[in-house]
Amino acid sequence: MKLAVIGTGYVGLVTGACFANLGNEVICVDKDRQRITGLNRGQIPFYEPGLQEVVHRNARAGRLSFSTNLKQSILRSEIIFIAVGTPSTKNGKADISAVIEVAQGIAKAMKTKTFKVIVNKSTVPVGMGDIVTKILLENGIKKESFAVVSNPEFLREGSAVSDFMNPDRIVIGASDNRAFNVISELYRSLNAHMIFTSIKSAELIKYASNAFLATKISFINEIASICERVGSDVVEVANAVGLDHRIGREFLNAGIGWGGSCFPKDILALMHLAREHGYEPQILDAIHEVNNYQVDAFVGKIEKQLKNLRGKKITVLGLAFKPETDDLRDAPSLKIIDRLIAKGAQITAYDPVAEKTAQKIQKQLTFCNKVYEAIAGADAVVVATEWGEFRDLDLLKVKKLMKKPVIFDGRNIYDPKRMRELGFSYHGVGR
Ligand code: NAD
Repeated sequence: MKLAVIGTGYVGLVTGACFANLGNEVICVDKDRQRITGLNRGQIPFYEPGLQEVVHRNARAGRLSFSTNLKQSILRSEIIFIAVGTPSTKNGKADISAVIEVAQGIAKAMKTKTFKVIVNKSTVPVGMGDIVTKILLENGIKKESFAVVSNPEFLREGSAVSDFMNPDRIVIGASDNRAFNVISELYRSLNAHMIFTSIKSAELIKYASNAFLATKISFINEIASICERVGSDVVEVANAVGLDHRIGREFLNAGIGWGGSCFPKDILALMHLAREHGYEPQILDAIHEVNNYQVDAFVGKIEKQLKNLRGKKITVLGLAFKPETDDLRDAPSLKIIDRLIAKGAQITAYDPVAEKTAQKIQKQLTFCNKVYEAIAGADAVVVATEWGEFRDLDLLKVKKLMKKPVIFDGRNIYDPKRMRELGFSYHGVGR
């Protein structure tokens, strides 16, 4: 099939490359000229394991191309995916302006009578499908010439290609049988569980999924705070609680809280949506509060231990909101770093892949591209991302290099008992 994917971010580029890999002819469109020029030269704009190889292979095979020309890309395509960003506005509402801009662009370009399916892959508030439909109708596109579909994406940065190719489920929200048929045919070769819903349910499924995952994290973080006060170990608690198949162990890791490009903005957007419709979201409000508390409490722990932070050299290991990505959007590490800098600490940071992204955001950091160099002379080390590399550090070497062997493990990657035996002053979360 001939596809256009609008937006070449984490979702759009992975979607385009993977659909090309399944044998479709895909054109990926972005308004960012520099990004498209780079992609045409084979440069991947962000770090995502395995993506470069899929992009290069399919571009070479002539199935995947890149363009800034929305009009031409729409005219040649039977299916158009919208995969542009939907960040938070100041009051937490999802900013849907990019989706609207793309929908208007599609409407203006779509002057043919051939049936096209417009698929929204961006995470959008319930009702966006109706807005896109209205834009097309208002631009004179006949209702028989198109169908709007909501097909939310559940890939995780860091394993996006494999998640896309092996999804837990594919949600197809539509109100038109032709659309259900076209999109389920497109995904058929993945042999995945497909769920057919209304557009509005599909739109909410994405928010509900993210909200539930964030709830699990905030829940275990709340248990961690109780553990710290009563002398239990949250990892022992989570291991046993998670064995209950009704609960599950995943997303029960206590730490400095959830962040990233999706959870924070999606929880806020869902809260806003609820309030707009007259419901006060009590659980969502609480998980948000607990998440903010995690950073406050962690910085509090550092202060309590190091006393005056002025002039102290603190090394932060990991900047990205999770391993295997360079995405720093709403990363908890940055909130912690900002607070520590405000209190006079000197921060040295190391992240295997996120340095370039971080340099654009946080100018007051000293970066080291070697982990042991970053640690040398530190008054304390903060683990902010659970990269595998940090688990495998030579801890005796770390201890020797540090000015004082103090570790604040924001991801609970080390065993407290072993760390204390090695002579560290060790501070995890909930242990
Ligand atoms: P992103 O910010 O990485 O990429 C968005 C891209 O869209 C950018 O390259 C931008 O230049 C382009 N763009 C913006 N406006 C445009 C326009 N008018 N025309 C053409 N291109 C335009 O975003 P992302 O992380 O890929 O997320 C995209 C959507 O998918 C969001 O709604 C997000 O919530 C959702 N989502 C993201 C993830 C994830 O892990 N990142 C997972 C699931 C769903």
